[in-house]
Amino acid sequence: MLSERVCKIKPSATLAMDTKAKAMKAKGLDIVNFGVGEPDFDTPDHIKEAAIKAIREGFTKYTAVGGIDELKDAIIAKLKNDNGIDYAREEIIVSCGAKHSLYNIAQALYGPGDEVLIPSPYWVSYPDQVLLSDAVPVFVHTTEADSFMLKTELLESKITKKTKALILNSPSNPTGFIYDRKALEAIAAIAVKHNIYVIADEVYEKLVYDGHEHISIASLGKEIKALTIVVNALSKSHAMTGWRIGYAAGPKDIIKAMTNIQSQSTSNPNSIAQKAAVTALTGPQDSVGIMRAEFDKRRKFLVDGLNNIKGIRCLPPTGAFYVFPNVSALYGKKAGQRQINSSLDFALYLLEEAKVALVHGEAFGDDNYIRISYATSMENIEKALGRIREAVARLG
Ligand code: PMP
Ligand code: GLU
Repeated sequence: MLSERVCKIKPSATLAMDTKAKAMKAKGLDIVNFGVGEPDFDTPDHIKEAAIKAIREGFTKYTAVGGIDELKDAIIAKLKNDNGIDYAREEIIVSCGAKHSLYNIAQALYGPGDEVLIPSPYWVSYPDQVLLSDAVPVFVHTTEADSFMLKTELLESKITKKTKALILNSPSNPTGFIYDRKALEAIAAIAVKHNIYVIADEVYEKLVYDGHEHISIASLGKEIKALTIVVNALSKSHAMTGWRIGYAAGPKDIIKAMTNIQSQSTSNPNSIAQKAAVTALTGPQDSVGIMRAEFDKRRKFLVDGLNNIKGIRCLPPTGAFYVFPNVSALYGKKAGQRQINSSLDFALYLLEEAKVALVHGEAFGDDNYIRISYATSMENIEKALGRIREAVARLG
């Protein structure tokens, strides 16, 4: 018999769609994969070279559980220079990706009956990680009309004596929107007033467009910093998804608890990847800007293309590499015997009939939408847009 806890969770929908798309591709089908959020760029060469050097020098053994000091120092310098926040080594932990840091936070902070506020639409792993710690996810809905920004009155109305934390993801996966300073200040004031932790997932911080600025909520003052755990990773900023290096910065008692969890579960993150991460953070950053500029071009092209398809409405997002178009105008329509009544119906229709893989909005908490990752080439985007246009035109 499996544990009650594990029976409450499901596999990550984003990874599940990626697996499905890859399996169809392996069978020889010409699939365009808009499913997974993973940069299509290769890891920059100077970062790879640092890893090769680490192997040659025999840096292949266990390291300190929470990461080597050299990497912690590089993270501290990054948080200071990019985000204007000061941390000491005891306030930093390096984990096997941001997902692992988030999981350790959940295990360290949430317990039975605790409530964790999650703005919806949300990234797929937040609710399930809360459930794995026997706590209760409480969703705070955001709407397209508000550019998917949290309404502070609604947020405050969801706070109870059991509220432990708020998970805030800016730039957001799946909506692609970012919180500005004013909105963050309002959220920080509520968190401080009610003494709730803020888990600030900032993995897409380097991907902001149209002159917008990424602001870390922890930089807004001493009180909110004491309640915030900042989570970030090299995965998206430096095209290093497979290397599995993420980190968290926050109050030292929480970081210590997370380190204890890590010491009883994974031990240290990969030693070679840690050395590569030092180079990623301290070496030249040109590739970050080059990738951002390319994502920006694709974003504009994709948003225009989607808005030219009748029945699809897509707000231009300001960050990350996702668009989250509203497809609910297509619900009730049919192609032959097949009727589209939900985001899953539409995603499966596009996968099977148009060979385009994307993720249904329902997996992120809103069934009126689909999520498209534009971390794929311009040619693929152009090809997929044509296919989606044709498939939608067949619906009547
Ligand atoms: N947070 C968000 C919002 C994400 O989209 C992802 C997926 N990459 C993660 C965390 C996990 O990142 P990592 O691959 O570094 O574990
Ligand atoms: N975060 C990415 C996504 O949303 C990768 C998949 C995952 O980690 O779930 O597609």
